[in-house]
Amino acid sequence: MFELERPYRKPRPEKPVERRCHRCHGTGRSACRSCGGQGRTATSRSALGEPVYIRCTACYGSKVCRCITCAGIGFIT
Ligand SMILES: [Zn+2]
Ligand SMILES: [Zn+2]
Repeated sequence: MFELERPYRKPRPEKPVERRCHRCHGTGRSACRSCGGQGRTATSRSALGEPVYIRCTACYGSKVCRCITCAGIGFIT
């Protein structure tokens, strides 16, 4: 009768895997979706039929917002 000796397996150290956010590529910022990265939005049209732009209220004209996927961290744990 054999007693098989199992090799002792060390438990793998649980390290949080940080992966770069695929949405913002690690920058933590993504193009504003409210204005489509334009930094401004057309609200109305003037009497001449031309669009009237105002600064985007979502990104305040910076054209980028905090990445919603990683919450601005740039990495996903
Ligand atoms: Zn991100
Ligand atoms: Zn915007």
